[in-house]
Amino acid sequence: LSRRLVVALVHYPIVDAQKNVVTTAITNLDIHDISRSARTYGCTDYFLIHPIEAQQELLGRILGHWREGSSGRRIPARKEALSLARGVRSLADMFDALGGRDAVEVWVTSASPLLRAMTFPEAKARLDGEGKPVVIVFGTGWGLAPSVIENADAALVPIRGEGSTFNHLSVRAACAITLDRLRGAQ
Ligand code: SAM
Repeated sequence: LSRRLVVALVHYPIVDAQKNVVTTAITNLDIHDISRSARTYGCTDYFLIHPIEAQQELLGRILGHWREGSSGRRIPARKEALSLARGVRSLADMFDALGGRDAVEVWVTSASPLLRAMTFPEAKARLDGEGKPVVIVFGTGWGLAPSVIENADAALVPIRGEGSTFNHLSVRAACAITLDRLRGAQ
């Protein structure tokens, strides 16, 4: 038995290079690539969290193009992957869609070490058991705002390369590596 796994990409609240809390823009690459990873590794949903109406409209237009439009007919596999993606205005709206904050377990990610973070083997064992759905939260910009990290149930250790101190991955790469470590077949 394995727990339901959900991916979330936060565009607010995010920190910038000066640690100010900011909103970042939705990117087409993040929509496509994270949907494809989520579908490959058996996630049930991919939430894109953005508070601004115009950005939600843009996301809706892109998703519509692939789900109902000509692109979806041209590349059915992409349509299938993008069927997991959906936009919500806030983390609170995502929790509502999942049955409430207490109905899920929230795990946060960061390139910097977080307090009491789980190693990947620990996280995999926890995911392979029984329990609430797990939402793995990824950031944009310079990473998740402290409020998101403080309100999580658990954190994952940063992904690192052997013998390397540089670990600033794109969020798309970080998501794919995380899902492969937690749900990858060998
Ligand atoms: N503009 C960037 C891009 O193109 O992806 C966004 C960078 S954003 C800070 C990267 C997010 O990916 C982080 O918030 C975290 O969720 C994840 N991430 C990046 N490097 C990571 C690492 N080494 N370990 C774990 N997560 C990482």
